[in-house]
Amino acid sequence: MISVEEAKILIVKSSFRLNPVCREISKSLRCVLAEDLFSPLNYPPFDQSAMDGFAIFHSDIPGKVEIEIVGESPAGNPYKEKISSGQSVRVFTGGKIPEGADAVIVQEKVSIENGKIISEEKQIIKGANIRENGSQIKKGELVLKKGTVLNPGAIGFLASLGITEVKVFPEPKVSIIVTGNELQKSGNPLVNGQIYESNSFALKSALESINIPSVNIVIIGDDEKITKETLSKEINNSDVVLVSGGISVGKYDFVGKCLEELQVENVFYKISQKPGKPMFFGRKNDCLIFGLPGNPASALSCFYEYVITSLKIMQGFSDISLKKVCLKIISDYKKKEGLSLFLKGKTMEDKVEILSGQESNNIGAFAFADCLIYLPAEKGNVKSGEFVEVHLLPV
Ligand code: AMP
Ligand code: MG
Repeated sequence: MISVEEAKILIVKSSFRLNPVCREISKSLRCVLAEDLFSPLNYPPFDQSAMDGFAIFHSDIPGKVEIEIVGESPAGNPYKEKISSGQSVRVFTGGKIPEGADAVIVQEKVSIENGKIISEEKQIIKGANIRENGSQIKKGELVLKKGTVLNPGAIGFLASLGITEVKVFPEPKVSIIVTGNELQKSGNPLVNGQIYESNSFALKSALESINIPSVNIVIIGDDEKITKETLSKEINNSDVVLVSGGISVGKYDFVGKCLEELQVENVFYKISQKPGKPMFFGRKNDCLIFGLPGNPASALSCFYEYVITSLKIMQGFSDISLKKVCLKIISDYKKKEGLSLFLKGKTMEDKVEILSGQESNNIGAFAFADCLIYLPAEKGNVKSGEFVEVHLLPV
């Protein structure tokens, strides 16, 4: 049996990044960039008016107060001639500044009479109200660094530079194998001794909450031959296999034995923790295998504390675990030293509450939880008002 800390180190060591893929930017939200991106053009690509007004020679102010209007340059339809001192072109936000002009006087600052603008401005600085060609970014400059998580702003930025595809780390292909003779599919009536299967729903939703929407789910009974065949197939076809149940040492727990026969490297089995003690983690070729205890709260705790780390590493993230904060606990809690606990909790600003229903088979508390409170092995009883480590769950 290993400690929580040892388990986390081994998971990081055994996990690996997936090979990058090319993807349309519109399909890359929340992906991690697998390349440095350089700008293919200057932005803005021409001198652009930042305001509605008149493109002029800045040196014409305040000397010439009457400046002839020779044309207009709306956005997308530039004025094509070069202008001279004493001339101006009406421009609109985003419109191209005509050659010769070097400032824009905003329309509110002038009056128009007989095709001329009349200005009483004392001075206008060179470049006023002009977004200069390449002022935001120049061709060849770094746009975004490898490792950047693409948010909506990043995707808009790339689109503005005409970049249509990027290299990103893909989502891992995940399979969930659910084991248990007692499990009935929801929608069917329960017969004697059956319970409804819930782990595939919780795990699939947890995957969705971290942007892994497509998952292959296989539900099997406690049958050694089928367990081995299913494991073999899913390991060959997936980056990550999550097995629910069958990993303890009961007569009908076949997962451990089958994994061994399939020559899956046993990185660790059993963590000194509650819930989720009989968790298995292994690797075969380029597939990571998590044997999650079948108790629903154990399976989900192990997902949040361990599986997420591998998934994040595969996707190139540098933040690879749940966000940690330190909060004041609002009640006493009796705890023996020597075992690490993950308690379902609810945060309230700078405080955290331990929810009722912490048993491994009770998934209900997770419905109200927004965090797991981590009480490390060496910790004994907890006193109300003490600071504890809190791991925030994705929503
Ligand atoms: P196991 O790890 O297979 O020994 O299962 C431990 C407990 O979790 C048993 O009470 C099972 O009935 C329950 N269990 C296992 N798998 C599931 C599942 N997919 N959904 C709900 N409960 C489960
Ligand atoms: Mg079972």
